[in-house]
This record gives sequence, C-alpha cells and structure tokens, in this order.
Amino acid sequence: IEDAILGGRLMHIDEVTGIAMHGAFLFLGAWIASRLSSEFRTKVVKLEDHAKRDPLTQLPNRRGYMEKMREEIARAERFAWPISILVIDLDHFKMINDEHGHAFGDAVLAQSAQILRDSVGPVDHLARVGGEEFAVSAVAADPQHGAELASRIVRRFRQHPWHEMKPGLKVTCSIGVAALDTSRAGSSPDASLSRMLDDADRALDEVKESGRNTYALAESAAGAPATDGSQRVAG
Ligand code: GH3
Ligand code: MG
Ligand code: MG
Repeated sequence: IEDAILGGRLMHIDEVTGIAMHGAFLFLGAWIASRLSSEFRTKVVKLEDHAKRDPLTQLPNRRGYMEKMREEIARAERFAWPISILVIDLDHFKMINDEHGHAFGDAVLAQSAQILRDSVGPVDHLARVGGEEFAVSAVAADPQHGAELASRIVRRFRQHPWHEMKPGLKVTCSIGVAALDTSRAGSSPDASLSRMLDDADRALDEVKESGRNTYALAESAAGAPATDGSQRVAG
C-alpha cells in the first residue's frame, strides 16, 4: 500500500478492500466508544437525580434540598436578599397510618405534596425532608413572604376536600417559619442554613405544643404580621 501511495502505482482491489475495512473498523470502534460514554453519562445523571429525589412525591429529598439551599444561601448573603424557610409537619400523621393503613398514608403524603406544589411560587424550593415533614424556602422574596406563605398553606390544608379520599378524613399541618438574618452574613452558608432550620424547628415545636393546625414565626421572621392568630416565638 505504501508502494502504491508513494510510487503512484494503482492499488490492487484487495489493498483497497483492506483500507476500507480498516477505516470501517476504526469508525465502528469510535462510534461504539462514543455511544457507551454518552449512555454512561446519562446513567450517572439519572442516578444522581434518584439520590436527591423522593420517589413517592417526586419532590427533592433532604439531600437535594440541602444542596440547593447551600447555593441559594450563598447567593442571598452576597446580595443581601431575604430568604424564608418553612418547616411543615403533618399533624397526627401516625394516627392516619394506624387507622387507614400505610398505603393510604402514602396517598395522603402524595396529596399533601400536591397542595404544597400548588401553594408555592415558581422560584420557591419545596422538598420532602423527612417522613411527613416538608420544607419550603422562599428566595428573594420580601421578609413577610414566609408568614404569608405559611398562612396560605395552613388554610389550604384546612379547606382541602379530604373527605373525597375517605369520608370523615381531615388532614392538617403545623408550620415553623424562620428567616435568613443577612446581618449575620460572614458565617458559612452551612452554618446559616442549619441555624435557620433549627429556628424553624423550634417554632414548629411551639405550634405542636400549643395545639397544631397553625404556624409560628421564629424571632428571625417575627417582623412579619401575624394575620391569622399565629403566635410569635423566640428563635
Ligand atoms: P405530630 O402531630 O406531633 O407531628 O404527630 P405525628 O403522628 O404526625 O408524628 P410522629 O412523629 O409521631 O409520626 C410520624 C409518622 O409518620 C410515623 C411514621 O410511621 C409515619 N411515616 C413516616 N414516613 C412515612 C411514609 O413514607 N409513609 C407513610 N405512610 N408513613 C410514614
Ligand atoms: Mg414529624
Ligand atoms: Mg407529624
């Protein structure tokens, strides 16, 4: 073949076939390698998504939520944007499981996720962070947004036609609201996030202790008006 190319001789048919076969194999090899690597990449992306998503509600799980919030808090602190966090816990959920079974409890969780999806804005982050516990973060909203959102969610749970799922069924939720204190910026986003979650959890505990089915504001969020008889608690 080298003779033919350098010496200007016409190539034999078997030499032409050899070159063509060689080229075809090289092309096939490259094509298979590129297919495999793109399939592998798609699988990795899918696995990563599975690890951060709750299969029952299709919402981000705690891991997905924390990851997203770290980015959001870093950005909010840089630009001094307010962020509100709501920790939402279904009331007496164990009783729903006990009375109607675990599968029915799952259906109530899925319906609760839908109510929350319909209640939050397109830029708010909603996640299922525990068994019957959800979190919403309202980013770049005014500081009162958290209280208004909590009030709306509590009302929507109260007004939802739960009896259509089972006669006599009522499902309510309790919410703790906290806000990002941008004056304390400088600490890490992780520290800010865990402080906010602790504040919201404490406010939630107050609601649970005082009877459930409403929301409470941690001190960090207490600049907001309480419009429906919610308490204010120390953060
Ligand atoms: P409280 O009003 O104080 O929040 O009471 P509660 O009964 O809601 O809270 P508790 O922590 O006592 O019970 C939560 C229950 O949620 C217990 C657990 O079995 C149930 N649970 C957690 N994850 C799931 C799930 O994925 N599906 C179902 N069906 N139940 C779940
Ligand atoms: Mg709980
Ligand atoms: Mg509960």
